[in-house]
Amino acid sequence: MADYPPAFQELIAALRQLPSVGPRSAERLALYLLESPPVVSQRLATAIADCRQRIVPCERCGFYAEGPLCTICSDDKRDRQVWCVVEQPSDVLKLEKSGSFRGLYHVLGGRLSPLDGVGPEQLRIGSLQARLEAEKPAEIILALGADVEGETTALYLAPILKSSGARVTRLATGLPAGGGLEFADSVTLGYALSGRREL
Ligand SMILES: [Zn+2]
Repeated sequence: MADYPPAFQELIAALRQLPSVGPRSAERLALYLLESPPVVSQRLATAIADCRQRIVPCERCGFYAEGPLCTICSDDKRDRQVWCVVEQPSDVLKLEKSGSFRGLYHVLGGRLSPLDGVGPEQLRIGSLQARLEAEKPAEIILALGADVEGETTALYLAPILKSSGARVTRLATGLPAGGGLEFADSVTLGYALSGRREL
């Protein structure tokens, strides 16, 4: 039985590595790329390569940046007294879209999960402490997921952050139990921010 040529099979296999792409969608996408004008696949290939080459973590907060600092850290109009600590760069975008937060961020790069081998040294906690000493914010909001790992991370961080003299709060109710920020809509996130509680 004949199959697609090897190069084409490799494209299908590469597409299948992506989340939410099953075998049928991978084949459909591969066929589309092969049959559409060359400019379509060229644009995609260039965009992927550019992204991988140019996007680096912001050296201050860890959000995506095209240069040493991200657009948030380099924005003079942001409130430097209030910080939001989040797990992932995508959480920053979630909070930005809620329109309820005008402070700065710190991206941990994950959450504590001893079972998966994620301890404090795997997260950007050292750089958070260094920033705290240098920048001395008045309040730090822990915007972590409402699941066990999010809770563990918050409990671990609270005393460290408080020792800097900052007020430490946590997002209020309304967040889906057992879920990360990616499951919350903008309105819910807005409420969660305004009703944050002291830690
Ligand atoms: Zn930044």
